[in-house]
Amino acid sequence: MHFYMPTKVYSERGCVRKHSQEWATLGKKALIVTGKSSAKNGALMDVLGALHEHGTASVVFDETEENPSIEMVMQVRELGLMENVDFVIGIGGGSPMDAAKAIALMLYHKEKGAEFLYQKGDDAALPVVEVPTTCGTGSEVTPYAILTIHAKRTKSSLPHRIYPAYALADGKYLLEAGRGILVNTAIDALGHFIESYINTNATDYSRMLCEYGMKVWSSTKSVLIGAERTVEDCDRLLLASTIAGMAITHTGTALPHGLSYYLTYENHVPHGKAVGYFLPGYVAAAEAATRRKVLELIGFPDQAYFTAFIHRLLGPMEADPELLERAVQGILANEAKLKNVPFSVTEDILESICRMAQD
Ligand code: NAP
Ligand code: FE
Repeated sequence: MHFYMPTKVYSERGCVRKHSQEWATLGKKALIVTGKSSAKNGALMDVLGALHEHGTASVVFDETEENPSIEMVMQVRELGLMENVDFVIGIGGGSPMDAAKAIALMLYHKEKGAEFLYQKGDDAALPVVEVPTTCGTGSEVTPYAILTIHAKRTKSSLPHRIYPAYALADGKYLLEAGRGILVNTAIDALGHFIESYINTNATDYSRMLCEYGMKVWSSTKSVLIGAERTVEDCDRLLLASTIAGMAITHTGTALPHGLSYYLTYENHVPHGKAVGYFLPGYVAAAEAATRRKVLELIGFPDQAYFTAFIHRLLGPMEADPELLERAVQGILANEAKLKNVPFSVTEDILESICRMAQD
């Protein structure tokens, strides 16, 4: 067993300003990577205020695309080089946070071309600070960055491990997010827990994270189905998401994430929603005792309740049979994903996971 979580996490109200002496002095100039809406919830203002307080210069890129691509990363690297930045701050959901890591890697290896992104080897990168504004990816603590590869018509995780130096998690940035964003990203976090728990690489440490985190996640269900949210609800949603990130850091994800990338690339289904469709089938395919344990931890009496809950939140999945077939064949050829799954994965099992996503 191993446990390695080198990111320093501050998870509390006002943490961006409160701990700026540490993170805002990582260099003389910061590149801020964010998106148009991600920047509008107070997070960017807090970050700029903190940098100003310490006399640290900055340049802002606020056009991060959802599911960032290799091309975008390379374009923003040019901006960072021109501006001579020495650290990178991601503000937003997984898209800007993952992009920040990939850009920090490419800024460090400034002589390398885009092919380096997918070459195993030197993981050195400029320091990264992450400020999450959704409650799904846990990217603020994971070493992963997932980019869109247009040439392959899908998405894939970089082989590099880029741990953020700081994660600054404040639930207040989620208070105004649309319900759809909240639901989709909370389902992504649930996917991380389930895929980390039902995983060949699970250990006592990763299960400890899942067991506590699933209970926290479970306590937010009423908000997900439509109850008015308080800032404390947002705190719990974000806490669950960060803990889920720590869990997948140690185990990786499994079939639902692998299957989801095709749906996101071809049909533009948001990441968490695309993952969520495949969760009932993945839980159903697990060994009976594990399935019962997972359902108990997330607070469902049985499989049927869980499936109905997911369908109620996400609605029906629409996907061409050809696309699902491509996803199934893609997974069967993806050894890295298959080795995370603790049961034998056949075409029949994958088809049944896809069927459960549809009816
Ligand atoms: P996202 O793509 O970062 O953001 C989704 C949408 O939410 C965007 O339209 C964004 O707007 C908006 N948004 C973000 N924060 C908001 C706020 N507080 N208020 C209002 N709107 C807000 O979504 P995500 O689900 O968090 O991230 C998905 C990405 O993360 C995918 O690329 C996925 O593959 C990756 N991922 C990474 C990991 C990891 O371990 N690193 C794990 C799972 C998934 P703007 O674009 O206008 O800002
Ligand atoms: Fe995810």
